[in-house]
Amino acid sequence: MRPAGGPGAAPPGGGPLLEVRELTKHFPIRRGLFSGVSGWVRAVDGVSLSIAPGETLALVGESGSGKTTTGRCILRLIEPTSGAVRFDGANLLALPPRAMRRMRRRIQVIFQDPYGSLNPRMRAGTIVREPLDIHRIGASRRERDERVAALLRRVGLDPAMRDRYPHEFSGGQRQRIGVARALALQPRLIVADEPVSALDVSVQAQVINLLMDLQEEFGIAYLFIAHDLAVVERIADRVAVMYLGLIVESGTREEIFKNPLHPYTRALLQAIPIPDPARARERQVLRGDPPSPAQPPPGCRFHPRCPSAFEPCARVEPALMEVAPGHRVACHLYPGEGGAGGS
Ligand code: SF4
Repeated sequence: MRPAGGPGAAPPGGGPLLEVRELTKHFPIRRGLFSGVSGWVRAVDGVSLSIAPGETLALVGESGSGKTTTGRCILRLIEPTSGAVRFDGANLLALPPRAMRRMRRRIQVIFQDPYGSLNPRMRAGTIVREPLDIHRIGASRRERDERVAALLRRVGLDPAMRDRYPHEFSGGQRQRIGVARALALQPRLIVADEPVSALDVSVQAQVINLLMDLQEEFGIAYLFIAHDLAVVERIADRVAVMYLGLIVESGTREEIFKNPLHPYTRALLQAIPIPDPARARERQVLRGDPPSPAQPPPGCRFHPRCPSAFEPCARVEPALMEVAPGHRVACHLYPGEGGAGGS
């Protein structure tokens, strides 16, 4: 059994807007259509995190780390296997479907692929107006149309473009439509699942600037999911790093970028391209691919790829321990109570 960790990625002070405790999602493996379950993919394996109002928590890890599944479980786009998700004091996992639909007004999502997530047969204005129609917001169609125009303007699009179809926009413009749609219901939290990964670097910066401006204006909190630490460096207040279904390190942006402790976090940071060739020589490349979450390695899940692995790593799973205020790490190099050096 995995040792009990700390409270995961927790905001300092104040009550959280979102609180996730020991969230798990295990997918059954079936060999054929009619065969029984032969194993489980432990996509999310006990994730705890919190987000304060108006805060951005970046959830970062390679493909297969479980970060997207975590986001989808929070939104209940897929049902978690176990755990607790509280939003603004309400237990989301206990809400009946109707109450959950109402709650979705306050928790919105932006997807990675702005083209795939926008209905290609709907005009931009209709896409943005749809949530207003569904939730019957605005006294009349005219009022909703005015709101759509204001939303398009706010995300940097000309309302005159409202009659165009998604394929008539650039990738960055399509993502702005997705942001306008997410904003329509004035959410308190947006789960942004790799929102800029499909965009060119210069367009990424523009969309991140827009998200930061909107946060300042409307006090929105973000769960910002990304595979690349470079992308979150400006937007994140705090960062939680995931590996094979677990949070292995979390802390403020400053702590994670200036004082990364977990060898996996360090490897992710070293993978960020730097123009200086002298520094590039010091880079340590992450070895191999992550193992399958269907068969996570025993002990520390990172040990087959870890350049610092030592005796207890393949045997004992490290707990997520607080090593400085708000900075937590799951690694035997930083033992504490419950770690390799603990009693
Ligand atoms: Fe590496 Fe061991 Fe730390 Fe895991 S616990 S990250 S294998 S040093």
